[in-house]
Amino acid sequence: DLLVVGSANADLVIGVERRPGPGETVLGSDLSVHPGGKGANQAVAAARLGARTALLARLGDDAHGRLLRDAQEAAGVDTSWVRAGGAPTGVALITVDPSGDNSIVVSPGANGRLSPADVRESTALLASAPVVSAQLEIPLETVVEVVRLLPSGTRFVLNASPPARLPAEVLTACDPLIVNEHEARVVSEHASATPLDGDPASWAKALLALGPRSVVVTLGGRGALVADGGGAAPVPAVPVRAVDTTGAGDAFTAALAWRLGTGETLSDAAAYAVRVGAAAVTKRGAQASFPTAQEVASLDAA
Ligand code: ADP
Repeated sequence: DLLVVGSANADLVIGVERRPGPGETVLGSDLSVHPGGKGANQAVAAARLGARTALLARLGDDAHGRLLRDAQEAAGVDTSWVRAGGAPTGVALITVDPSGDNSIVVSPGANGRLSPADVRESTALLASAPVVSAQLEIPLETVVEVVRLLPSGTRFVLNASPPARLPAEVLTACDPLIVNEHEARVVSEHASATPLDGDPASWAKALLALGPRSVVVTLGGRGALVADGGGAAPVPAVPVRAVDTTGAGDAFTAALAWRLGTGETLSDAAAYAVRVGAAAVTKRGAQASFPTAQEVASLDAA
């Protein structure tokens, strides 16, 4: 149902009283290691909802790579196209202080080696799903190759995270371009002389003018906005008690991409995705917080 092309990282998390200054050593909590990375997260989120999902990613030939592969397989993701080797598995070194503020260092590792050639060797995979989704934690040239080799009729969804300068070729392929508020600003600053101002509905329209066939702006606890040739419309949030918003955007993007592939309209798919994002913020962690379809349904009943 869905092919995710993207990153996979091991998240190494240590709690600290305060973050060390230059030359300083501080003691922290026991280490916890979690599977993460936007591509890996989105594949797990879709599979947990029941989507038949494949991941195209690159892992190191190491213990973190095995951890990530196991997490994908446990969620039911098809990992037969996941590549191994070339560099160590991507890692995010995360320190969290008592107020919940993070400091993060990312080593892209093998994610940086997922190449246009890897995409060319996966054309059978690209042709296997109605929707292909990508994010930007892999080389931009690899995303460009995905867009170039996409079979006609296959829908391309881009979560522009982390935000970057996007070539017109990529922008015009997006249906939709998915961004949060920060990403909306950065993407538009790169592409247009006029900064975003006014309300988010006007942002969505300004982003649409850059070439995508449709745009979705996520607004955290305020839901989302969708815009396409037919106009812009708000998608109200589902009120929940937010415990940890890590991975909310990944859950949202995965749900939206999957539902578009089933033939839903952008508004209907976004209404579902907002519920999936809401369910994800009620639990701690990223992949650990992603709901099943049943959990999404019970959120509606609550
Ligand atoms: P990101 O994690 O990429 O910054 P957002 O914070 O916009 O993305 O969250 C993505 C989606 O998750 C939102 O559109 C919304 O549906 C849901 N969400 C996030 N935070 C909350 C919240 N506090 N309450 C309810 N839903 C939320």
